[in-house]
Amino acid sequence: MPTQVRMKHIVVRCPDGRFHGAFQGLIEEFNLEKEGGYDLLSWPGASLPLCGPAREVFLGQIETLRRLHGNSEVWVLDHDDCGAFGQEGEADPAEEHQRHADCLRQAAALISTVCPEIIVRKFLVFEDGCFQEIDGVADSKEKRQLQLQLR
Ligand SMILES: [Zn+2]
Repeated sequence: MPTQVRMKHIVVRCPDGRFHGAFQGLIEEFNLEKEGGYDLLSWPGASLPLCGPAREVFLGQIETLRRLHGNSEVWVLDHDDCGAFGQEGEADPAEEHQRHADCLRQAAALISTVCPEIIVRKFLVFEDGCFQEIDGVADSKEKRQLQLQLR
């Protein structure tokens, strides 16, 4: 009998090459590799397709991984200046941030409806490697600003 592979997390992220380092930084900051491991799903807009007409297709990918690896957490990583959101070069950061928060919440609600026992964490990641957790506690931007103030 083959050993059953277990992975704790599913990380959903946008494939935008500018953000590889920033996403990897977040994954390392939380040590997901050692803390139960993670599977990676990469599709444009991260939370965005879960809020659109093709949501079933993307939800199906999460369900397939869950069946195979028994994942108990889904982390959705949006990023600012996202082309899939039509935001590349957009001027208003507050409005941009709000759209991601709305979309991430909608995506999380959908995942929770289909898999009620799963934990969903939602992040907005910035190109400089900072990130903010939506409705959560992790906020490296705040932390970094605090460190700067304390200096
Ligand atoms: Zn993107």
